[in-house]
Amino acid sequence: MTPAQRPHIVIIGAGFGGLYAVKQLAKADVDVLLIDRQNFHLFTPLLYQVATSGLEPGEIAYPVRGILRGMPNVCFLRGDVTGIAPDRKTVMVHTGHGTREERYDTLIVAAGSRTHYFGQEHLAHHAFGLKTLADSVILRNHILKCFETAAWTADPAARDALTTMVVVGGGPTGLETAGALRELYKYVLSREFAHQVDGLNGRVILIELRDHLLAPYPPRLREAARRQLEDMGVEVILGQSVIEAGADSVRLSDGRTIATHTLIWAAGVTASPIAALLGVPLRAGDRVPVHPTMQVIGHEDIYAVGDMAYLEDKQGEPYPMLIPVAKQQGILAARNILRRLAGQPPQPFAYTGFKDRGLMATIGRSRAVAWIFYRVQLTGFIAWLAWLVLHLITLLGFRNRLNVFVNWVWNYLTYDRSVRIILEAEPGAPAERADSVEDSEEQPGEPVGVILAR
Ligand SMILES: Cc1cc2nc3c(=O)[nH]c(=O)nc-3n(C[C@H](O)[C@H](O)[C@H](O)COP(=O)(O)OP(=O)(O)OC[C@H]3O[C@@H](n4cnc5c(N)ncnc54)[C@H](O)[C@@H]3O)c2cc1C
Repeated sequence: MTPAQRPHIVIIGAGFGGLYAVKQLAKADVDVLLIDRQNFHLFTPLLYQVATSGLEPGEIAYPVRGILRGMPNVCFLRGDVTGIAPDRKTVMVHTGHGTREERYDTLIVAAGSRTHYFGQEHLAHHAFGLKTLADSVILRNHILKCFETAAWTADPAARDALTTMVVVGGGPTGLETAGALRELYKYVLSREFAHQVDGLNGRVILIELRDHLLAPYPPRLREAARRQLEDMGVEVILGQSVIEAGADSVRLSDGRTIATHTLIWAAGVTASPIAALLGVPLRAGDRVPVHPTMQVIGHEDIYAVGDMAYLEDKQGEPYPMLIPVAKQQGILAARNILRRLAGQPPQPFAYTGFKDRGLMATIGRSRAVAWIFYRVQLTGFIAWLAWLVLHLITLLGFRNRLNVFVNWVWNYLTYDRSVRIILEAEPGAPAERADSVEDSEEQPGEPVGVILAR
C-alpha cells in the first residue's frame, strides 16, 4: 500500500496500554500516530521512591522518541487531547503552539486514570497526589522543605506539625509511601537534623476507611502488612477517613484532628476525563464500557484499553487497574485491528493463568507481602526480593534498570537516600521563558515553575 492508502491509527496515551499497542503495530502496513501530553513513558510503581528521595525522576521515565526509534511507521505528537469527534473521526490536540485536528481510521484510547477524591474534591486543594512524575517531585520538595523549616522552628507543636505526614489509602501505594517516608525519617533525616534540633519526631500516619489494609489480599497478608508497618513506627488508623483538610491540619471522621502540613492522597483513581469525550454512558469509576474485543460499545472504530476501559471478568468483576491488564489489552486491541484489516474475526480478552501474576506490595527495607499467582503467600524478606526482581524486570530501558539497581544496592548498604534535592526555580525567575516555543495560552501539563513548587 502507498502511504496515502495505509490505514491511519491514532493512539492516545504512551502509558502501558498505548505503548504495547504501538509495539504490535510497528511492523504492520499501517501508519500510527501516538499522542501524549508528556514526552516520556512513566513507570508508576516507583513514583513513591522519587517522592521519598530514593530515586531520580529520570530513572523511572523513558523518552517516548527513544522507544520509537526503529519504528518508521510511528510518529509522536506531544500534546493534550482536548476533544474527540467520532462522527468526523478526528481528535483535537492542543500542542502548545495551536490546536491540531488529527484524522483517524481507527482510534485506541489509552489515557489512563487520575486521582479520585470520592466526591470530597475540597480535600484536593490541600492534598498531594501521587499520580504523575510532577506530583512526586512536588511532594519530595515539600517534605524536604518541611524538615528544613522545622529545624528552625522553636515551638515544639509547630515543629511536630511540620514533620508529621498523613497518608490516606491502605492499598499498595499508601503502604509503600508510608513505609518509605518512615525510612527516610528514621535512617536519614533524623540523623542529619539531630545535632541541630532535639526531638524532631517524623510521625507517619496511615489512614484507611476499611477495617483492614490491602483489600484484595488474603487476611494473613493484610495482617502481616499492618504488623510490618507498625514495627517500622508507622501509625495505622483503620475505619476512619479524612473529612476536612487545611494547610496545617486534617480532621478525621471520628472528630480527631491531626496537626500536619502533609496530606498525601493515595486512596484511589478514576478514569481519565478523556473517557467523557467519547459521548458514551460511562460505567463505575467513569470507565468506558468495551466489548471483550476492546472495542468501545457503540463505536466499532474506537478501542479503549487499560485503566480507562470497563470490562468484566467471568465473576462479573471489572478487571483491575493494573499494568499487566493494560499491557495485554493494548496488545489485544492492536492485534484485533490488524485482524479486522485482514478480514479475520477479532479475539476476546483473556486474562488468566500465568498472565495474571498475582499481587505484591513492598513496605520497606526487607519487608513486603506477595500473593504469587493468587496461590503462594509470601511475607518479609522473600516477598521483598520477589518485588525487587519483578519491578526491575518490568522497568523500561537498560540504563534505567541499571541505575535503579545501583541506587537500591547503595541505599540498602548505606541506609542513604542520595536524592534529597529541593528542585525549585530561583526566587523571581520567570516560570516560563518569554521566548518559549509554546504559546502563552493554557499549556498542556503544568509550566516548570508550577511543577517544581507549590
Ligand atoms: C503511584 C502508582 C503506583 C502504581 N503501582 C502499580 C504496581 O505496582 N503494579 C501495577 O500493576 N500497577 C500499578 N499502578 C497502576 C498502573 O500504573 C496502571 O494500571 C497503568 O499505568 C495503566 O496503564 P494505562 O495505559 O491505562 O495508563 P497510563 O500508564 O497511566 O498511561 C496513560 C497515558 O496517557 C497520557 N494522557 C492522559 N491524558 C491525556 C491527554 N488528555 N492528552 C494526551 N495524553 C494524555 C498520560 O500522560 C499517560 O502517559 C500504579 C499506579 C500509580 C498511580
